[in-house]
Amino acid sequence: MLNIDLHCHSNVSDGVLSPADVVARAAANGVHALALTDHDDVTGIAAARAAADAAGMTLIPGVEISVSWGGQTVHILGLRIDPAHPGLVAGLHGIRLGRIERAQRMAADLARSGIHGAYDGAFAYAANKEMVGRTHFARWLVAQGHAPDLRTTFKRYLTRGNPGYVEHEWTSLENAVGWIRASGGMAVIAHPGRYAFNARELHLLLDAFRALGGAGIEVISGSHHPSEYGKFADLARAFGLKASRGADFHAPDEGSDIGCLPALPHYCRPVWQDWPELAIHLSPSMA
Ligand code: AMP
Ligand code: MN
Ligand code: MN
Ligand code: MN
Repeated sequence: MLNIDLHCHSNVSDGVLSPADVVARAAANGVHALALTDHDDVTGIAAARAAADAAGMTLIPGVEISVSWGGQTVHILGLRIDPAHPGLVAGLHGIRLGRIERAQRMAADLARSGIHGAYDGAFAYAANKEMVGRTHFARWLVAQGHAPDLRTTFKRYLTRGNPGYVEHEWTSLENAVGWIRASGGMAVIAHPGRYAFNARELHLLLDAFRALGGAGIEVISGSHHPSEYGKFADLARAFGLKASRGADFHAPDEGSDIGCLPALPHYCRPVWQDWPELAIHLSPSMA
């Protein structure tokens, strides 16, 4: 059976490994096909692809786009995108500019709680100075001794109602799905179990997403509790959406590792069902 992991981060966004090291880790874990899905940036894909070619692994060009929908932040994965597509590149650039302005407001809010220097502190943890986010702030807060680990940091800071959290308008669902599809990619809702929607709101999201040409949802995710897998497999089936699997790997000592989650339930239609680039791993010559 193929080990396919379609969600992970490098230090181009808020992961800690370089794109080449993410690929090396995936290969060591027995992954056949990996999607690099950095937040709002595609500049790691070239290096990841070169490393994957050398390792005999398939690299799926991906991205995880930040969207505002229904009063929440929703993450939309783009899989098999063209990282050079001008509309996608311009759209992502706009989101990253918004992140820099948001980081200033986050730092100002932390300063009001007596925590100073967070803007420069967070940027020191961002390998890509264009892509700064809450994880970079969180890593700095841990290093400064404000919390023992990332999990606790996000309980005390950077989340709604806590110091360092600011509202932010990301792009629209329509834009994100539109850019992904225009670049030849497939849109997938990341970790649907992580949003604070009730069942009715989640159904509205799935309807709106499908009407825009969205193709799938993550069923097996590092952000889902195993007890949720069946619920999202059933939802995918009920809404005529395909199913994806991804660890959402960020760092060796944080969360799920690449390619180590269970397989999709047998009744799911995988997002990779018709991907010709996977045939190489199924041919007898690969044995
Ligand atoms: P941002 O896109 O800047 O809002 O940052 C979102 C990122 O923060 C996510 O992709 C995760 O990597 C990280 N994150 C959010 N909530 C948590 C949490 N409770 N624990 C650990 N990491 C989190
Ligand atoms: Mn992240
Ligand atoms: Mn996400
Ligand atoms: Mn992610």
